[in-house]
Amino acid sequence: MSLSKSNDDSNREVLDSNSDTNEEDKNELCPGFKDVDAFVKHGFGVVLSATKASAGLPQPGDEFDFYRSFPGFQEFCESQGDQILQCMSQIMQHHGCRSHVKDRNKLTAVEERFDLVVDSNDVILERAGILLDEADGVNRNQKPVMPAGFQPPKIVVSSWNRKGSGSSSQSETFRLLHAKNIARPQLKFKEKIDNSNTPFVPKIFIKPNAVKPLPSYFTNKQIRNERPEDLDVPAALADLIHQQRTQEHVEDMFAHPYQYELDHLTVPDSLLSKPEPQMYKPIAETKLSFIDSLEDLVELNEKLCKLSEFAVDLEHHSYRSFLGLTCLMQISTRDEDFIIDTLELRSEMYILNEAFTDPTIVKVFHGADSDIEWLQRDFGLYVVNLFDTHQGSRALHLARNSLDHLLRHFCNVDSDKRYQLADWRIRPLPNEMVQYARTDTHYLLYIYDCVRAQLLDSNHGQPGLLQSVWNKSKDISLTKYMKPLFTEDSYLEVLRKQKRSFNTQQLTAFRLLFAWRDKLARQEDESTGYTLPIHMMIKISEELPKEPQGIIACCNPVPPLVRQQVNELHLLVQQAREMPLLKAEIAAQKKKGLTPVKKPEVTLFGPHDTSRASESELPYFSPNEALVKQGRLFSEDESKMDVDEQKMSGLLAPAKITLFQEPDVHTEQNSLSVAQMKARRIIESFENPFRMYLPSTDVHVNKNAKFDPSSKIFEISKRWKLQSIEQQQKELEAKQKAKEEAKQQAKKASEKRTKTKQSYQESLQNVATVRQQAAESAKSTAKKRETPASEVGEVTPKPAKKLKAAEKTQKTETPSQTSFKPFDYSQSDLKVFAGTKSKDNSQFDPNRQGQGFKKKKVPQGQKKHNSAGNRSMSYMAGKSERGFRHNWPKR
Ligand code: AMP
Ligand code: MN
Ligand code: ZN
Repeated sequence: MSLSKSNDDSNREVLDSNSDTNEEDKNELCPGFKDVDAFVKHGFGVVLSATKASAGLPQPGDEFDFYRSFPGFQEFCESQGDQILQCMSQIMQHHGCRSHVKDRNKLTAVEERFDLVVDSNDVILERAGILLDEADGVNRNQKPVMPAGFQPPKIVVSSWNRKGSGSSSQSETFRLLHAKNIARPQLKFKEKIDNSNTPFVPKIFIKPNAVKPLPSYFTNKQIRNERPEDLDVPAALADLIHQQRTQEHVEDMFAHPYQYELDHLTVPDSLLSKPEPQMYKPIAETKLSFIDSLEDLVELNEKLCKLSEFAVDLEHHSYRSFLGLTCLMQISTRDEDFIIDTLELRSEMYILNEAFTDPTIVKVFHGADSDIEWLQRDFGLYVVNLFDTHQGSRALHLARNSLDHLLRHFCNVDSDKRYQLADWRIRPLPNEMVQYARTDTHYLLYIYDCVRAQLLDSNHGQPGLLQSVWNKSKDISLTKYMKPLFTEDSYLEVLRKQKRSFNTQQLTAFRLLFAWRDKLARQEDESTGYTLPIHMMIKISEELPKEPQGIIACCNPVPPLVRQQVNELHLLVQQAREMPLLKAEIAAQKKKGLTPVKKPEVTLFGPHDTSRASESELPYFSPNEALVKQGRLFSEDESKMDVDEQKMSGLLAPAKITLFQEPDVHTEQNSLSVAQMKARRIIESFENPFRMYLPSTDVHVNKNAKFDPSSKIFEISKRWKLQSIEQQQKELEAKQKAKEEAKQQAKKASEKRTKTKQSYQESLQNVATVRQQAAESAKSTAKKRETPASEVGEVTPKPAKKLKAAEKTQKTETPSQTSFKPFDYSQSDLKVFAGTKSKDNSQFDPNRQGQGFKKKKVPQGQKKHNSAGNRSMSYMAGKSERGFRHNWPKR
């Protein structure tokens, strides 16, 4: 508690002292502590021990009940509980938040208290954000303009933001580099970013180091580029046709392109025996190359292909982009450091696959989970033979598993992660950022040696532990990137985390705002957090402002897109206000196990089903039966019905029927209201066009299948549902007009297509190696880098400029698509392929990742969290332009 208290004191100090310096401030900044670092260290210690202590308490269930039977324990709990609540209440009051944590109605107490804590956290963190900006030297009222070159933000250096003494670091101030007006790198991308609400399909079109050839879907540009949008029929029909056409490829489209190779990858003995750690070269003596041309990239690839290991890291930006952008790739060999401008070379990065998928070359990453996904998403790069030092650190049970800890532990290097959240889109890169980025990989190969040696030592020389790290690393490299997909239920997922109780109007508003935000963010290629932060969305939904101005008032600062579309938003809020007012609880009681509500067998919510009636007079909806307009078909009747009528008929919620969920056969007819029966009849009269994709045993769309892009149900049903009737009609009209023209053009087109096909077939026979292509295009684009986007995917024969050893060339050649021959181990000179199928892979199901909206697999203890602490979801993106991933730490 003393932590928050003095923290707050320091905040005040910051506010007061603004720019001038005086010696007293220095002492008062953190009373009793040498400097901020000491204070933070102490704070972390306190928090850690509190967390440990609370984890050590008897678990709910038997253990707790047993302890609870002792009056002494009971009293102790109560008194401690009161004390904690009191402390919390004081802190909240101190920050001017609602603070009636105590004396709450027992039944709802926990939920409401939790809400209060969440609110207060938001307020406190928001404040911290403002103060950090201030410490950063950013004047909020004055937006710096950043023209082509980079102007470092004005930094106010004073006692409160001067770095603690003792550090001889170059930069003496806390500086979170970010700029407000950076040209959008997306504008320069040769290939347009695909933010559509469809599953991600790998970008790969040539597969170096293939044992199993790349499926024809990827090598055949024609199949690949056929998009439903291009068909001259209504969108819905186009989807269906497209679906039929791509059906045979579906499995390939969503598979990991190197699954086979990874499944057959084994660690050679040399990598399981104890290495002699090879000391890193001092930074000052190491050559650093900045790579921003294809020529240099090709040369780097050449170099890497000759090595037995190299280290890789990425820097990423997620605030001003929907999916996120990889801005930088750092590579370190034993002798050199490289920094690749991946914004510049985005479309060419794929050539590195030659080194990245070479099973004889170890790629060392630290915490590769995100990197693996970013590589696929932005460049179509894959990693075969990964060693993740974060996994190594975890297996060693080191005190912390972050890179800065490893650097301190093994290299005695004091790094600081201050630039981690800098805006990595800035060009030219300021020197500090270059240095920071470089440190992330420079020492990594040495750490890789040390970690391996220790893993063997700690296991009495046995390779088991080390092997497990190789396996974990392999699992990470098998991760498939999943695009965040919008579903009708996405908003519930988000809302559940916010632990809010909303009535029907608020819930509707939230749902509509959520859909608006998703659509606009995709369209404008902005993060959802930039478009409209969650806490503002909640505020608007809670307040349901009557005027557009009221919406503006809910947002501070007002997101540009909100300001721009405030009338649109206002209409949505109005629409929500027209809903009949009922109380709906979005509570995660199931997860928290606080107020367990027995779930009845029936999955449809029957109006006479009283099994989940609560004490309150108002009906109670758990998230799964949330009161939402799910059944679009009869949602209109519903809003016309007045509340009394609904009460009488007992219809409290629309039945959870959507076009693509067939009615539950088990539900008793007589438990349905008239409206529901009607709805059911209407629905039953539809032949579900996606029946073939539905599981045959269960008439409901399997929830997982719905979220699993590879099931295809998802994509199609979403697309259908996302089309508003109005839109569809407009489209239909437009299409009809275009149809006439199209018919005429179609003839020409088909002629053209056969020609292209021919030339393509010809070209296929002559597929050049990656290197040859790259070398060639290097030649042609070095002077004039204007290759059109579509050319990237073209597999055209190109004369070899730099020829490689014949053996390697063979390896990289795309094998013929027609005949897949299993790898002949007897012929192999690569030990790595000699083993049998890894057993560990059975645990790994990348599809699981796709469940839920933006729900990423965040491995426990991932180092990313160490520096961020508990960032509030609702706080983060709105406040500054630091590179937040909008799905970063969860509460
Ligand atoms: P790193 O591997 O530590 O250099 O991190 C790579 C990228 O991940 C950074 O450029 C950030 O964009 C992102 N990142 C890392 N840590 C965080 C964090 N705590 N919060 C948000 N983004 C992060
Ligand atoms: Mn990293
Ligand atoms: Zn990094």
